[in-house]
Formats: sequence, structure tokens, C-alpha cells
Amino acid sequence: MAKISDRVRGLTAGMGDGWGVYHRARALKAQGVAITDLTIGEHDIRTDPAILDAMQASARGGHTGYAALAGTGDLRDAIAARVTERTGMRTTRENVLVTPGGQAALFSALMGVMDPGAEVALPDPYYATYPGTVRAAGGVPVPVPTRPEDGFQPRAEALSAAIGDRSAALMVNSPNNPTGAVYGAETMDGIAEVAQRHDLWLISDEVYDTQLWSGGHLSARALPGMADRTLVVGSMSKSHAMTGSRIGWLVGPPAMIADLVVLATHTTYGVAGFVQDAALHALRLGPEFEARIAAPFRRRRAACLELLGQAARIRAHPSAGAMYLMLDIRATGLSATAFAERLLDERRIAVMPGESFGQAAAGHVRVALTLPDDALLNAFDSMLSFAEEIMA
Ligand code: PLP
Repeated sequence: MAKISDRVRGLTAGMGDGWGVYHRARALKAQGVAITDLTIGEHDIRTDPAILDAMQASARGGHTGYAALAGTGDLRDAIAARVTERTGMRTTRENVLVTPGGQAALFSALMGVMDPGAEVALPDPYYATYPGTVRAAGGVPVPVPTRPEDGFQPRAEALSAAIGDRSAALMVNSPNNPTGAVYGAETMDGIAEVAQRHDLWLISDEVYDTQLWSGGHLSARALPGMADRTLVVGSMSKSHAMTGSRIGWLVGPPAMIADLVVLATHTTYGVAGFVQDAALHALRLGPEFEARIAAPFRRRRAACLELLGQAARIRAHPSAGAMYLMLDIRATGLSATAFAERLLDERRIAVMPGESFGQAAAGHVRVALTLPDDALLNAFDSMLSFAEEIMA
């Protein structure tokens, strides 16, 4: 076999650990072992039948050829209208690129802002794929630790200190996966100030903008002076339970969007037309539908926090958004990886050790609230008794 590229070989920079529990849980499941899987952010419901009907009608109606590369005009308009309504920022189809999921929007954004070797500063803990996506696009990720004591909100001074001659962008995510932090006005102003002072792009991943449990969602692009340097990543995965349809978007300045259409021409070649039509149908279901998809996580978060209120060894960060809870397990004396490994072995429950999301989440595990309420509360009960047992 000829050589596999260093770029692809180096995507995870040898940081495979942190994903061991996830892979082991998958392997056990494949062997038929019953595992309570609280690892990844996927709803316990499937895509709504009405959306699937729209998808089928579109495909049967003939929308199975190459679709409009930037996205269909109707879908771009609908996304633009949603962004305008939610953020107050006038947005038109020229600001919108439809992508195969938020992940492709992230990659596209990074390709647009960086030349090879450029650096991207990102608050740590971060969504697990971020460093690899930066590397895939030829850049260098620069994690900037945040602190549990600060509710994992990034500080402007820390971000600024991470900026060097080769910095091209900041990449932030609010509501945040894995921490559940929602960045408040002070944090967002700090991020905007650093981006402007150092003349950087801001990539703002807002795929959890419908999963907000307290406070308001501030979109970075709506801050003064930020529209021309901000690329917002959106997705139908979490808001509409459409993870498998691979449909998302990037919103930014028209000149950047036009260049990224050229990139799409040479990479993805767009998104299936019938998926775009299904997405349009889904968006037209409006905010009530989005609230319905988010409701179980709101309810489960509250129930789990109440249960955890009585726990001695495990402390929850009361997330303000997203479909996870970040649990501080430092009082058990175990590392997060050891805790998660033993939880899998002894209770057949799979959670993500904090190390999967960077160094700043050490001593924490992330639990996805993606099981029906009773099963989830049983799993939390079991986790709490496990924590007591290992202390005994
Ligand atoms: N961004 C964040 C913070 C996520 O948690 C995810 C998925 O879990 C994504 C982006 C990518 O989602 P998708 O590609 O399904 O839109």
C-alpha cells in the first residue's frame, strides 16, 4: 500500500484516549450485551413522520438529481428568515450556505478562514471533533482552558493570551457541548472584543440554539461590528431530530458564502434535494415544533438535577442549555476515565469521560439525556449508588 497522508493519519494527534469507553460500549452492544448508552447526542425519538412524508413526496416527485449547490432558494430563504427572526439581524439567502450537517459547515468555515498552518483558538472543553476538524482543514487547534469555577465561560484575557501571529479565528460554541454553558453578554462581548482587536474570524457553533433552559441565546453575529467577521454554524440535527439526514447551514458575509459555494462544488457537491425539501417542511413547522423536540431534555434535566441534589459524591453543573449534564466526579477520587470504565464494567452504563472533550473537563463525565425519563432516572440512581459504593 502506498503512504497514507500525514494529515489524515494525524487528525486525532494520537489522542484516541477518551473515546475508549465509547468504543468499548459499542463493541459490547454488538456482542448482545445490554448497555445503557448515555454517550452521544442523539434523540431517543426518530425523525417526525410528517418530515419523512415530505422527503418521500419530494423524492417521488423527482427531486433526486443534483440539487442547487448553495441550497435551494426556498430553503435558503427559510433559513435566512429564521435567523432574522431569532437574532434581529437582517439575513438573506446570500448569507446562507446549505451544508451536509453542522459538521460540514464547521469544516467549510475553517477552510474559508485559514491558510495551511494557521491557528484557531477554541475554549476547552470543546465539542470532541473540533481539533480534528481544524487539522483536517490544515490548521492548528489551540485549546484555551476554561474553569468549572467560572461555569466553563471563556475569559477574554485567556482567549487573548492564546492569540499569536498565525491566529486566524476563534471557534466558540454556545449553548455548549459538553458543558451545557450558555455564554452570557459579558462572555460574548469579550469574545467579540478579542476577535476585533486581533482581526480574527469568529466561528460560532449555535447548533443547540433551541435547547435553552435558562437565560437567553445571544448570537455572536448580532453583536456590534461582528456581522462581517462571523460565520454561524446551524443544523437541523438537534433542533428537528434529523441527525441522519445530514442537513445544516453556515451563515456569513455574502462574499465568503460565494467562495464556499466554490469549495462545495469541489467537495460535497451539495445536499440531496429531497433532504432539503424535507428540511424546508420541517422549518415551516415553526418554533412550536422545535420546542416539542427540545421539551424532553428540559424535563429530564430538571428531574436529574433534582435527584443529583441529594448526592454526596457527584455534583452536577446545572447546564443552561443542550442535551447533556456535566457531572463533577472528583469527590470519588477516580479519574473520569477510570470512573467511566468501571461504570461500564460494573453497571453496564456508558458515559463520556471529560477527557474526550479536552483537558479542562478532567474529573467530569458527560451524560447525554437521551433515554426515556424512567430509564434515565434509573441510570442516574445506579450511577449514584455506584459512586457511594466505590467510596465505601
Ligand atoms: N456542533 C456541536 C457542538 C455538536 O454537538 C454537533 C453534534 O453533536 C455538531 C456540531 C455536528 O452536528 P451535525 O453534523 O449532525 O449537524
